[in-house]
Amino acid sequence: MKKSYLIFICIILWYIGFYALSSLFKSIISNNTLIVFLSFFIPTFIVTIIYYSIKKIVTSRNDKVKEYSVKYKKIQEINEMYNFLDVKNKIKLEENEFSIKSFNDILAKQVVLYRIENNEDNIREWIENAMVNEDTYKKYKEVIESINDKTDISLINKIGFSETKFNNIEKQLIDSSIISDKVYNIAAHVIVNYVNKNYDIIYKKDRYVEYNELVSIYEEWKNSKKYKVTTEKERKLMNYSLREEVLKRDGYKCVVCGKTEQDGVRLEIDHIIPVSKGGQSTISNLQTLCSSCNAKKNTQDNDSFKKRFIKDKLIQFRRNRSKELDIPAYYIFTNNELDKILELMPKNVEELKKSGILPNIKIAKHGELIIKVINEK
Ligand SMILES: [Zn+2]
Repeated sequence: MKKSYLIFICIILWYIGFYALSSLFKSIISNNTLIVFLSFFIPTFIVTIIYYSIKKIVTSRNDKVKEYSVKYKKIQEINEMYNFLDVKNKIKLEENEFSIKSFNDILAKQVVLYRIENNEDNIREWIENAMVNEDTYKKYKEVIESINDKTDISLINKIGFSETKFNNIEKQLIDSSIISDKVYNIAAHVIVNYVNKNYDIIYKKDRYVEYNELVSIYEEWKNSKKYKVTTEKERKLMNYSLREEVLKRDGYKCVVCGKTEQDGVRLEIDHIIPVSKGGQSTISNLQTLCSSCNAKKNTQDNDSFKKRFIKDKLIQFRRNRSKELDIPAYYIFTNNELDKILELMPKNVEELKKSGILPNIKIAKHGELIIKVINEK
């Protein structure tokens, strides 16, 4: 008998007892409090006893089947032999978009692909572990399905069960002890928000990306040219003196965030135009990045990466209402791009210039704005 079924019956019994007793007591007792007390207490007491005795009978019967079922014991042994990696069943991937166009255009697949490229939240390991588990699970399932051991009928009768009864209980026990496909059947809950400049969520869309789709996105990333070229060629082309030359030119600091090894970061050499897009290991195509910026940049276009960096900085700046902006280098934006970025700020460009929040905005030759923020170290 299922536990939920038993609880349901107990509740019904309790109701019947309560109403029967309260109408009976009304005709013989005049004290209302006593009527309620007795009609409540007596059925509660009786039903509790019924519940625990049935549960005890069921448990002892199950224990007996566990003891004599050859198949059940075998499954326990097999469960011990198969180890599955710890894999969270669901993860949440949330993205905020500040432009309605990009919000409309963005697809769940792109969010997943972006996270895989940047390995955010160790998403690669998450998918890889699930894939390992799937392989193990297939073998496990095969072994489980090949078991055809049966308990001897004479033994079943000897311990006081009919064959059908024994088989039913055995089936229930086995179904609940077979490891479920949750060990690999993972899903990513992708949520994309359209956020206005006050950080209110205006629109929201979400979708579950299930295991098979996650694997196909992962495989697509792994088979992509980007992945292969950067892992194979890049290392071969770089040599020590070239590395030293780049570091020296960039003043031994990350050209994006400005951090040095004294700040506790590791400096790496990055291809401005990635090798996968035809970029070469020459001094003009190399720059110094800290490992954190390098990991965030990954295969992004250099300019859009830098812009994203300053955009994030401005967002933080606005959120924290801080006095200083800590951006160490030059950033070049078109007027349109800058206006969009500054939408995130509390004031317009002219006001910002006057207020000194962005102290060195000037118009460059080609109608571009150059922001130079002075806190350079
Ligand atoms: Zn950096």
